[in-house]
Amino acid sequence: MGNLIGFDLDDTLIPTVVHYIDAQEKLNDFVLDSFKGLKFNRDEIDDMREGIQMDLVSKMGFSSEVFPGSFEHTYVKLSEVYGARATRGGRSCAYELGRRVFNEKAWGSAGLLPGSEDVLDFFKDRGDRLVMITLGDDEIQRRKIEVVGLDKWFSGDDVYVDLRSKGDIMKRLFTKEERADGLFVGDSYRHDVRPALGAGVRVAYIPQGSWHGDGIFNGSDPSVIKLRDISKVKDIYESSVLK
Ligand SMILES: [Mg+2]
Repeated sequence: MGNLIGFDLDDTLIPTVVHYIDAQEKLNDFVLDSFKGLKFNRDEIDDMREGIQMDLVSKMGFSSEVFPGSFEHTYVKLSEVYGARATRGGRSCAYELGRRVFNEKAWGSAGLLPGSEDVLDFFKDRGDRLVMITLGDDEIQRRKIEVVGLDKWFSGDDVYVDLRSKGDIMKRLFTKEERADGLFVGDSYRHDVRPALGAGVRVAYIPQGSWHGDGIFNGSDPSVIKLRDISKVKDIYESSVLK
């Protein structure tokens, strides 16, 4: 019988943070241009927007409204703090810049992260069961999977999307038996490693170091296998008695 192997989506199998950084740059350009002559810089805009985003996440989870909403709120807050005039057109322009991260063409042209396809084939060929556990908006995450062709390895029933946390899904899917030889693969300390440890699941941790406030795991828990890139995940099974 195969093992249960879980995967995170964003920045584990596909590049995501690049789209967010690109959109943030566009927001910075836009507000600096809209409020010309005011004394704030890109770092202040970034910090303000991140604070607003954290606040929205605590209220709405990882809803698709959070990122574009943080753009609009940043535009408005800057105008209030610096005494400039915000317009309705400016608000909607800021919001739309945040929506750029949901551009399907950009997902499609970026494709999968190098090595992902090979690792997924490896587990599929072994007869393991693959599941995806991802945070975000259900419709958007499922659409990403289709656009980049991950539906070749994950059918709709194998995809679990939650707005806030992966912990409960992991606990449900990884039964005591599955936990013994199973694995979860993810890039985030906060959203992959922590819930996996809480659910008693071994985790292949491939930090990208790119998400603000994610934290880094530097401990030495035997359940956390820290790797440089996803292709190394195969070694865990090739080198062990679990073949
Ligand atoms: Mg991730």
